[in-house]
Amino acid sequence: MAPRDRLVCSRCQESYPLNDLRWRCECGGPLDIEHRPRFDQRSIDDRGPTLWRYREALPIGVDVPPVHLGEGYTPLLQGRVAGYPVWLKQDHIFPSGSYKDRGAAILISHARSLGVSHVVEDSSGNAGAAIAAYAARAGITCDIFVPEDTAPAKLAQIRGYGARLHRVPGDRQAATLAAQEAAETTYYASHVWNPFFLHGVKTFAFEVWEQMGRRAPDALVLPVGNGSLLLGAAIGFQELLAERKIHRMPRLIGVQARACAPLAAAYEQGAEVPAPVAPGFTRAEGIAIAMPARGDQVLAAVRASGGQFVTVSEEEIVAATRAWWRHGFAMEPTAGATLAGLTRYLSSSTRDREIIVSSITGHGLKASASLPDLFGERGP
Ligand SMILES: *Cc1c(COP(=O)(O)O)cnc(C)c1O
Ligand SMILES: [Zn+2]
Repeated sequence: MAPRDRLVCSRCQESYPLNDLRWRCECGGPLDIEHRPRFDQRSIDDRGPTLWRYREALPIGVDVPPVHLGEGYTPLLQGRVAGYPVWLKQDHIFPSGSYKDRGAAILISHARSLGVSHVVEDSSGNAGAAIAAYAARAGITCDIFVPEDTAPAKLAQIRGYGARLHRVPGDRQAATLAAQEAAETTYYASHVWNPFFLHGVKTFAFEVWEQMGRRAPDALVLPVGNGSLLLGAAIGFQELLAERKIHRMPRLIGVQARACAPLAAAYEQGAEVPAPVAPGFTRAEGIAIAMPARGDQVLAAVRASGGQFVTVSEEEIVAATRAWWRHGFAMEPTAGATLAGLTRYLSSSTRDREIIVSSITGHGLKASASLPDLFGERGP
Protein backbone atom coordinates (compact mmCIF):
# COMPACT_ATOMS: atom_id res chain seq x y z
CA MET A 1 0.00 0.00 0.00
CA ALA A 2 1.41 3.35 -1.02
CA PRO A 3 0.40 6.52 0.90
CA ARG A 4 -1.62 7.83 -2.03
CA ASP A 5 -3.74 4.72 -2.54
CA ARG A 6 -7.45 5.48 -2.14
CA LEU A 7 -10.96 4.33 -2.96
CA VAL A 8 -12.47 6.13 -5.97
CA CYS A 9 -16.06 5.98 -7.20
CA SER A 10 -16.38 4.49 -10.69
CA ARG A 11 -19.34 6.77 -11.46
CA CYS A 12 -18.71 10.23 -9.88
CA GLN A 13 -14.95 10.09 -9.03
CA GLU A 14 -15.54 10.95 -5.35
CA SER A 15 -12.69 9.50 -3.28
CA TYR A 16 -12.36 7.97 0.20
CA PRO A 17 -9.47 6.70 2.32
CA LEU A 18 -8.39 3.15 1.52
CA ASN A 19 -9.27 1.93 5.03
CA ASP A 20 -12.84 3.28 4.88
CA LEU A 21 -15.36 0.55 5.79
CA ARG A 22 -18.03 1.72 3.29
CA TRP A 23 -19.01 -0.62 0.46
CA ARG A 24 -20.22 1.95 -2.06
CA CYS A 25 -20.04 5.64 -2.84
CA GLU A 26 -22.52 8.16 -1.43
CA CYS A 27 -23.92 8.30 -4.99
CA GLY A 28 -24.52 4.52 -4.98
CA GLY A 29 -21.73 3.72 -7.44
CA PRO A 30 -19.20 0.88 -6.99
CA LEU A 31 -15.75 1.85 -5.68
CA ASP A 32 -12.42 1.10 -7.34
CA ILE A 33 -8.94 1.27 -5.85
CA GLU A 34 -6.49 3.84 -7.17
CA HIS A 35 -3.17 2.18 -6.72
CA ARG A 36 0.28 2.12 -8.28
CA PRO A 37 1.53 -1.48 -8.31
CA ARG A 38 5.20 -2.41 -8.20
CA PHE A 39 6.68 -5.50 -9.80
CA ASP A 40 9.97 -6.21 -8.14
CA GLN A 41 11.25 -9.20 -10.09
CA ARG A 42 13.78 -10.19 -7.46
CA SER A 43 11.17 -10.26 -4.68
CA ILE A 44 8.78 -12.18 -6.94
CA ASP A 45 11.44 -14.79 -7.77
CA ASP A 46 12.44 -15.12 -4.11
CA ARG A 47 8.95 -16.10 -3.00
CA GLY A 48 7.18 -19.41 -3.31
CA PRO A 49 4.51 -20.42 -5.82
CA THR A 50 1.50 -18.63 -4.31
CA LEU A 51 -0.31 -15.46 -5.31
CA TRP A 52 1.49 -13.66 -2.45
CA ARG A 53 4.62 -13.54 -4.63
CA TYR A 54 3.15 -10.28 -6.09
CA ARG A 55 2.87 -8.55 -2.71
CA GLU A 56 4.24 -5.20 -3.92
CA ALA A 57 1.47 -5.09 -6.53
CA LEU A 58 -1.34 -5.59 -3.99
CA PRO A 59 -3.10 -2.64 -2.30
CA ILE A 60 -2.37 -3.93 1.21
CA GLY A 61 0.78 -3.04 3.09
CA VAL A 62 3.73 -5.45 2.86
CA ASP A 63 3.68 -5.52 6.67
CA VAL A 64 0.07 -6.79 6.82
CA PRO A 65 0.16 -10.51 7.66
CA PRO A 66 -1.65 -12.49 4.94
CA VAL A 67 -4.58 -14.75 5.69
CA HIS A 68 -3.61 -17.63 3.48
CA LEU A 69 -4.24 -21.29 2.68
CA GLY A 70 -1.41 -21.72 0.18
CA GLU A 71 -3.50 -20.30 -2.68
CA GLY A 72 -2.44 -19.34 -6.17
CA TYR A 73 0.10 -19.97 -8.88
CA THR A 74 -2.22 -22.61 -10.30
CA PRO A 75 -0.86 -24.65 -13.22
CA LEU A 76 -1.37 -23.38 -16.77
CA LEU A 77 -1.91 -26.50 -18.87
CA GLN A 78 -2.30 -26.95 -22.59
CA GLY A 79 -5.51 -28.43 -23.93
CA ARG A 80 -6.94 -28.74 -27.42
CA VAL A 81 -10.19 -27.60 -28.97
CA ALA A 82 -10.75 -29.24 -32.37
CA GLY A 83 -6.98 -29.68 -32.61
CA TYR A 84 -6.27 -26.06 -31.75
CA PRO A 85 -3.98 -25.49 -28.71
CA VAL A 86 -5.37 -23.43 -25.84
CA TRP A 87 -4.00 -22.69 -22.37
CA LEU A 88 -6.16 -23.51 -19.36
CA LYS A 89 -5.57 -22.03 -15.92
CA GLN A 90 -6.36 -24.70 -13.32
CA ASP A 91 -8.28 -22.40 -10.97
CA HIS A 92 -10.60 -25.21 -9.86
CA ILE A 93 -7.81 -26.59 -7.65
CA PHE A 94 -7.85 -23.66 -5.23
CA PRO A 95 -8.33 -24.59 -1.53
CA SER A 96 -12.10 -23.94 -1.62
CA GLY A 97 -12.48 -25.28 -5.17
CA SER A 98 -12.89 -22.09 -7.21
CA TYR A 99 -10.94 -19.03 -8.38
CA LYS A 100 -12.88 -16.98 -5.79
CA ASP A 101 -10.06 -17.78 -3.32
CA ARG A 102 -7.91 -15.19 -5.12
CA GLY A 103 -10.26 -12.41 -4.10
CA ALA A 104 -11.22 -13.85 -0.71
CA ALA A 105 -7.59 -14.14 0.46
CA ILE A 106 -6.85 -10.45 -0.23
CA LEU A 107 -10.24 -9.15 0.94
CA ILE A 108 -10.15 -11.05 4.25
CA SER A 109 -6.49 -10.14 4.85
CA HIS A 110 -7.44 -6.47 4.40
CA ALA A 111 -10.53 -6.82 6.61
CA ARG A 112 -8.51 -8.43 9.41
CA SER A 113 -5.90 -5.66 9.21
CA LEU A 114 -8.73 -3.14 9.82
CA GLY A 115 -9.83 -5.05 12.93
CA VAL A 116 -13.04 -6.35 11.34
CA SER A 117 -14.41 -9.30 13.32
CA HIS A 118 -17.59 -10.12 11.37
CA VAL A 119 -18.45 -10.03 7.66
CA VAL A 120 -21.46 -10.70 5.43
CA GLU A 121 -21.57 -11.86 1.79
CA ASP A 122 -24.14 -13.05 -0.75
CA SER A 123 -23.36 -15.54 -3.44
CA SER A 124 -24.65 -18.28 -5.69
CA GLY A 125 -22.32 -20.53 -3.69
CA ASN A 126 -18.63 -20.34 -4.57
CA ALA A 127 -17.90 -16.81 -3.39
CA GLY A 128 -19.70 -17.60 -0.13
CA ALA A 129 -17.60 -20.74 0.30
CA ALA A 130 -14.36 -18.84 -0.39
CA ILE A 131 -15.20 -16.00 2.02
CA ALA A 132 -16.28 -18.57 4.64
CA ALA A 133 -12.99 -20.48 4.23
CA TYR A 134 -10.72 -17.46 4.65
CA ALA A 135 -12.87 -15.99 7.42
CA ALA A 136 -12.51 -19.33 9.25
CA ARG A 137 -8.75 -19.18 8.76
CA ALA A 138 -8.68 -15.59 10.08
CA GLY A 139 -10.95 -16.17 13.08
CA ILE A 140 -13.58 -13.82 11.62
CA THR A 141 -17.25 -14.81 11.89
CA CYS A 142 -19.47 -14.57 8.85
CA ASP A 143 -23.03 -14.71 7.58
CA ILE A 144 -23.52 -15.94 4.02
CA PHE A 145 -26.76 -15.30 2.09
CA VAL A 146 -27.57 -17.64 -0.80
CA PRO A 147 -30.60 -18.23 -3.04
CA GLU A 148 -32.81 -21.11 -1.98
CA ASP A 149 -31.89 -23.29 -4.96
CA THR A 150 -28.09 -23.23 -4.39
CA ALA A 151 -26.34 -26.56 -5.08
CA PRO A 152 -26.38 -28.81 -1.96
CA ALA A 153 -22.61 -29.42 -1.93
CA LYS A 154 -21.99 -25.66 -1.84
CA LEU A 155 -24.43 -25.20 1.06
CA ALA A 156 -22.70 -27.96 3.03
CA GLN A 157 -19.30 -26.50 2.22
CA ILE A 158 -20.28 -23.05 3.56
CA ARG A 159 -21.68 -24.63 6.74
CA GLY A 160 -18.61 -26.83 7.03
CA TYR A 161 -16.38 -23.77 7.37
CA GLY A 162 -18.54 -22.68 10.29
CA ALA A 163 -20.34 -19.80 8.58
CA ARG A 164 -23.93 -18.93 9.38
CA LEU A 165 -25.90 -19.78 6.25
CA HIS A 166 -29.08 -17.96 5.23
CA ARG A 167 -31.13 -19.49 2.40
CA VAL A 168 -33.16 -16.62 1.01
CA PRO A 169 -36.46 -17.36 -0.77
CA GLY A 170 -36.53 -15.97 -4.31
CA ASP A 171 -33.83 -15.36 -6.86
CA ARG A 172 -30.16 -14.36 -6.67
CA GLN A 173 -31.11 -10.67 -6.34
CA ALA A 174 -33.16 -11.42 -3.21
CA ALA A 175 -30.02 -12.86 -1.54
CA THR A 176 -28.11 -9.70 -2.48
CA LEU A 177 -30.75 -7.44 -0.92
CA ALA A 178 -30.76 -9.49 2.29
CA ALA A 179 -26.96 -9.29 2.55
CA GLN A 180 -26.94 -5.55 1.86
CA GLU A 181 -29.44 -5.00 4.64
CA ALA A 182 -27.13 -6.89 7.00
CA ALA A 183 -24.19 -4.86 5.62
CA GLU A 184 -25.71 -1.69 7.11
CA THR A 185 -24.19 -2.73 10.41
CA THR A 186 -21.29 -4.97 9.45
CA TYR A 187 -18.49 -5.30 6.88
CA TYR A 188 -19.65 -6.27 3.38
CA ALA A 189 -17.18 -8.85 2.03
CA SER A 190 -18.79 -8.73 -1.40
CA HIS A 191 -17.03 -10.25 -4.40
CA VAL A 192 -19.00 -7.80 -6.54
CA TRP A 193 -18.82 -4.51 -4.61
CA ASN A 194 -15.62 -4.79 -2.56
CA PRO A 195 -12.69 -3.71 -4.76
CA PHE A 196 -10.15 -5.61 -2.65
CA PHE A 197 -11.70 -8.76 -4.09
CA LEU A 198 -10.93 -7.59 -7.64
CA HIS A 199 -7.36 -6.72 -6.61
CA GLY A 200 -6.93 -10.31 -5.43
CA VAL A 201 -8.41 -11.73 -8.63
CA LYS A 202 -5.97 -9.64 -10.69
CA THR A 203 -3.23 -12.10 -9.65
CA PHE A 204 -4.74 -14.34 -12.36
CA ALA A 205 -3.18 -11.94 -14.89
CA PHE A 206 0.18 -11.80 -13.12
CA GLU A 207 0.43 -15.60 -13.00
CA VAL A 208 -0.50 -15.99 -16.68
CA TRP A 209 2.07 -13.31 -17.55
CA GLU A 210 4.84 -15.13 -15.67
CA GLN A 211 3.83 -18.60 -16.84
CA MET A 212 3.86 -17.49 -20.49
CA GLY A 213 7.42 -16.22 -20.19
CA ARG A 214 6.43 -12.69 -19.11
CA ARG A 215 4.15 -12.06 -22.04
CA ALA A 216 0.43 -11.47 -22.48
CA PRO A 217 -1.69 -13.88 -24.53
CA ASP A 218 -3.65 -12.54 -27.53
CA ALA A 219 -7.04 -13.32 -26.01
CA LEU A 220 -8.63 -14.37 -22.73
CA VAL A 221 -11.86 -16.37 -22.78
CA LEU A 222 -13.54 -15.92 -19.40
CA PRO A 223 -16.99 -16.52 -17.86
CA VAL A 224 -19.08 -13.49 -16.98
CA GLY A 225 -21.84 -13.34 -14.39
CA ASN A 226 -20.97 -10.31 -12.27
CA GLY A 227 -17.66 -10.17 -14.09
CA SER A 228 -15.31 -10.40 -11.10
CA LEU A 229 -12.84 -12.64 -12.94
CA LEU A 230 -12.98 -10.64 -16.16
CA LEU A 231 -12.63 -7.30 -14.35
CA GLY A 232 -9.87 -8.63 -12.09
CA ALA A 233 -7.96 -9.97 -15.10
CA ALA A 234 -8.46 -6.64 -16.89
CA ILE A 235 -7.07 -4.72 -13.89
CA GLY A 236 -4.07 -7.06 -13.72
CA PHE A 237 -3.17 -6.76 -17.39
CA GLN A 238 -3.78 -2.98 -17.34
CA GLU A 239 -1.33 -2.69 -14.45
CA LEU A 240 1.24 -4.78 -16.31
CA LEU A 241 0.74 -2.54 -19.35
CA ALA A 242 1.07 0.66 -17.29
CA GLU A 243 4.33 -0.65 -15.81
CA ARG A 244 5.54 -1.60 -19.34
CA LYS A 245 5.75 -5.30 -18.52
CA ILE A 246 3.60 -6.08 -21.59
CA HIS A 247 3.05 -4.17 -24.82
CA ARG A 248 -0.69 -4.54 -25.34
CA MET A 249 -3.85 -5.77 -23.64
CA PRO A 250 -5.22 -9.21 -24.49
CA ARG A 251 -8.67 -9.18 -26.09
CA LEU A 252 -11.30 -10.00 -23.47
CA ILE A 253 -13.91 -12.55 -24.60
CA GLY A 254 -16.82 -12.81 -22.14
CA VAL A 255 -18.92 -15.99 -22.02
CA GLN A 256 -22.53 -15.94 -20.81
CA ALA A 257 -25.21 -18.61 -20.63
CA ARG A 258 -27.86 -17.91 -23.25
CA ALA A 259 -30.55 -18.28 -20.57
CA CYS A 260 -29.17 -15.26 -18.70
CA ALA A 261 -27.09 -12.96 -20.91
CA PRO A 262 -27.71 -9.28 -20.03
CA LEU A 263 -24.18 -8.21 -20.99
CA ALA A 264 -24.00 -10.14 -24.27
CA ALA A 265 -27.34 -8.53 -25.19
CA ALA A 266 -26.12 -5.05 -24.25
CA TYR A 267 -22.96 -5.62 -26.27
CA GLU A 268 -25.02 -6.58 -29.34
CA GLN A 269 -27.27 -3.53 -28.90
CA GLY A 270 -24.35 -1.13 -28.43
CA ALA A 271 -25.63 -0.30 -24.93
CA GLU A 272 -23.38 0.84 -22.08
CA VAL A 273 -25.37 -0.78 -19.28
CA PRO A 274 -26.73 -4.35 -18.86
CA ALA A 275 -29.87 -5.09 -20.91
CA PRO A 276 -33.00 -6.03 -18.94
CA VAL A 277 -33.55 -9.79 -19.23
CA ALA A 278 -35.99 -12.38 -17.89
CA PRO A 279 -33.59 -15.14 -16.83
CA GLY A 280 -34.41 -18.75 -17.68
CA PHE A 281 -32.95 -21.89 -16.09
CA THR A 282 -29.28 -22.63 -16.63
CA ARG A 283 -26.93 -25.28 -15.27
CA ALA A 284 -24.28 -22.56 -15.20
CA GLU A 285 -25.60 -21.30 -11.85
CA GLY A 286 -22.33 -19.45 -11.10
CA ILE A 287 -22.88 -16.98 -13.96
CA ALA A 288 -26.69 -16.62 -13.77
CA ILE A 289 -26.65 -12.91 -12.85
CA ALA A 290 -29.47 -10.83 -14.34
CA MET A 291 -28.38 -7.45 -12.92
CA PRO A 292 -24.57 -7.29 -12.65
CA ALA A 293 -23.71 -4.27 -10.47
CA ARG A 294 -20.46 -3.57 -12.35
CA GLY A 295 -21.98 -4.40 -15.75
CA ASP A 296 -21.07 -0.99 -17.20
CA GLN A 297 -17.43 -1.59 -16.26
CA VAL A 298 -17.45 -5.08 -17.82
CA LEU A 299 -18.89 -3.73 -21.09
CA ALA A 300 -16.34 -0.91 -21.18
CA ALA A 301 -13.42 -3.29 -20.49
CA VAL A 302 -14.49 -5.77 -23.20
CA ARG A 303 -14.97 -3.01 -25.78
CA ALA A 304 -11.71 -1.21 -24.90
CA SER A 305 -9.80 -4.47 -25.42
CA GLY A 306 -11.33 -5.12 -28.84
CA GLY A 307 -13.05 -8.19 -27.42
CA GLN A 308 -16.57 -9.56 -27.66
CA PHE A 309 -19.19 -11.73 -25.94
CA VAL A 310 -20.34 -15.23 -26.85
CA THR A 311 -23.36 -17.05 -25.46
CA VAL A 312 -23.80 -20.80 -25.00
CA SER A 313 -26.87 -23.04 -24.85
CA GLU A 314 -27.64 -25.63 -22.16
CA GLU A 315 -26.79 -28.43 -24.63
CA GLU A 316 -23.39 -26.88 -25.31
CA ILE A 317 -22.74 -26.51 -21.55
CA VAL A 318 -23.52 -30.17 -20.87
CA ALA A 319 -21.54 -31.37 -23.90
CA ALA A 320 -18.45 -29.32 -22.97
CA THR A 321 -18.57 -30.38 -19.30
CA ARG A 322 -18.74 -34.07 -20.26
CA ALA A 323 -16.05 -33.76 -22.93
CA TRP A 324 -13.51 -32.07 -20.66
CA TRP A 325 -14.12 -34.53 -17.80
CA ARG A 326 -13.24 -37.26 -20.31
CA HIS A 327 -9.87 -35.53 -20.79
CA GLY A 328 -9.23 -35.56 -17.04
CA PHE A 329 -10.52 -32.12 -16.06
CA ALA A 330 -13.16 -32.31 -13.29
CA MET A 331 -15.22 -29.14 -13.54
CA GLU A 332 -18.65 -27.96 -12.49
CA PRO A 333 -21.09 -27.01 -15.29
CA THR A 334 -20.46 -23.26 -14.79
CA ALA A 335 -16.83 -23.90 -15.70
CA GLY A 336 -17.98 -26.13 -18.57
CA ALA A 337 -19.92 -23.14 -19.91
CA THR A 338 -16.66 -21.19 -20.29
CA LEU A 339 -15.11 -24.01 -22.32
CA ALA A 340 -18.27 -24.27 -24.43
CA GLY A 341 -17.76 -20.55 -25.08
CA LEU A 342 -14.15 -21.23 -26.02
CA THR A 343 -15.27 -23.78 -28.63
CA ARG A 344 -17.84 -21.36 -29.98
CA TYR A 345 -15.35 -18.50 -30.11
CA LEU A 346 -12.77 -20.63 -31.96
CA SER A 347 -15.32 -21.83 -34.48
CA SER A 348 -16.20 -18.23 -35.37
CA SER A 349 -12.79 -16.57 -35.11
CA THR A 350 -10.90 -15.95 -38.33
CA ARG A 351 -7.70 -15.08 -36.52
CA ASP A 352 -4.72 -17.29 -37.18
CA ARG A 353 -2.37 -18.67 -34.57
CA GLU A 354 -3.90 -16.69 -31.76
CA ILE A 355 -2.59 -17.51 -28.27
CA ILE A 356 -5.64 -18.05 -26.09
CA VAL A 357 -5.86 -18.46 -22.32
CA SER A 358 -9.00 -19.60 -20.53
CA SER A 359 -9.77 -20.83 -17.03
CA ILE A 360 -11.36 -23.78 -15.30
CA THR A 361 -13.07 -21.73 -12.64
CA GLY A 362 -14.80 -24.28 -10.37
CA HIS A 363 -14.20 -27.89 -9.32
CA GLY A 364 -16.49 -30.70 -10.46
CA LEU A 365 -17.18 -31.87 -6.91
CA LYS A 366 -18.97 -28.57 -6.30
CA ALA A 367 -21.77 -30.06 -8.39
CA SER A 368 -21.67 -33.50 -6.78
CA ALA A 369 -25.47 -33.73 -6.54
CA SER A 370 -25.87 -33.32 -10.30
CA LEU A 371 -23.05 -35.68 -11.29
CA PRO A 372 -25.29 -38.78 -11.43
CA ASP A 373 -27.45 -36.84 -13.85
CA LEU A 374 -24.44 -35.91 -15.97
CA PHE A 375 -22.57 -39.21 -15.83
CA GLY A 376 -24.73 -41.83 -14.13
CA GLU A 377 -27.45 -44.16 -15.33
CA ARG A 378 -29.43 -41.27 -16.69
CA GLY A 379 -26.31 -39.93 -18.44
CA PRO A 380 -24.95 -40.85 -21.88
C1 LIG B 1 -18.23 -16.90 -9.58
C2 LIG B 1 -17.97 -17.86 -10.67
C3 LIG B 1 -17.90 -17.47 -12.02
C4 LIG B 1 -18.21 -16.09 -12.52
O1 LIG B 1 -17.83 -15.04 -11.74
P1 LIG B 1 -18.54 -13.64 -11.88
O2 LIG B 1 -17.84 -12.75 -10.97
O3 LIG B 1 -19.98 -13.78 -11.50
O4 LIG B 1 -18.41 -13.22 -13.32
C5 LIG B 1 -17.56 -18.44 -12.95
N1 LIG B 1 -17.32 -19.71 -12.60
C6 LIG B 1 -17.39 -20.12 -11.33
C7 LIG B 1 -17.13 -21.56 -11.03
C8 LIG B 1 -17.70 -19.22 -10.33
O5 LIG B 1 -17.77 -19.63 -9.05
ZN1 LIG C 1 -20.02 8.20 -6.61
